[in-house]
Amino acid sequence: MTAGGDLEQPDPSDVASFRARREDVLGRIAAAAQRSGRDPAAVRLVAVSKTVPADRLRAAVAAGLTVLGENRVQEGEAKRPLVPGASWELIGPLQSNKARRALDTYDVIQSVDSLELAARLDRLADDFDPRAGGSRVRVPVLLQVNVDDDPAKAGFAPSDLEAALGAILELPRLRVDGLMTVGRLVDEPEDARTTFRRLRELSRRVRAADPRLGPELSMGMSADFEVAIEEGATIVRVGRALFGERAAPAGPTA
Ligand SMILES: *Cc1c(COP(=O)(O)O)cnc(C)c1O
Repeated sequence: MTAGGDLEQPDPSDVASFRARREDVLGRIAAAAQRSGRDPAAVRLVAVSKTVPADRLRAAVAAGLTVLGENRVQEGEAKRPLVPGASWELIGPLQSNKARRALDTYDVIQSVDSLELAARLDRLADDFDPRAGGSRVRVPVLLQVNVDDDPAKAGFAPSDLEAALGAILELPRLRVDGLMTVGRLVDEPEDARTTFRRLRELSRRVRAADPRLGPELSMGMSADFEVAIEEGATIVRVGRALFGERAAPAGPTA
């Protein structure tokens, strides 16, 4: 599928350093899960690789970081052919004119934030299936929720989510695995707890009414993923704790 054979092998010392960072983050995930009586295996790590060049990502994949998260359609599109062996998740805002390209590049779209976008993805998924030759039955998505009603953030307002959910769950080519949120920037990890708790409670309430919504909760980043796990995160999206500080200002814009 890719030109993997022509790609340079990753630098062994890069692989070793990613392995150490991965072990460290997985250890912190396990400790946070145990603290709250949860199974560490119930938390999935997405390595947020925005701004990280493809050659370093090949080292990260060799070190076991095989699920990568990108916040721009075109960045994942450019890097994916250069980084074999990973799966890719879109975690940033998706404009509907890029929906087809997003389906072509990403295995999971975490940032579905409107009924219109969901309906468009469903229609496009019905037309073609780029990688699996037609066998991908449903596209896994998460619905992004702006739990804090922060005007700077994308996502459904909680009441809009409840209004749109029935129609979204009817879409035959989407599999709605759960909810995702991007917390406010906080000084202390503890300050993010309320946001995470709200997402968990929203999920519980909505799933009690309609169990077709999946149980996943994607929440928590480098600064606060342990608090998110204590509040029930099943997916954490970790960038800087794995890859170091980003040179360009590419903070969470979603
Ligand atoms: C950048 C980003 C992350 C990761 O943030 P870090 O602070 O680097 O861990 C997580 N989620 C989203 C939506 C992002 O844009």
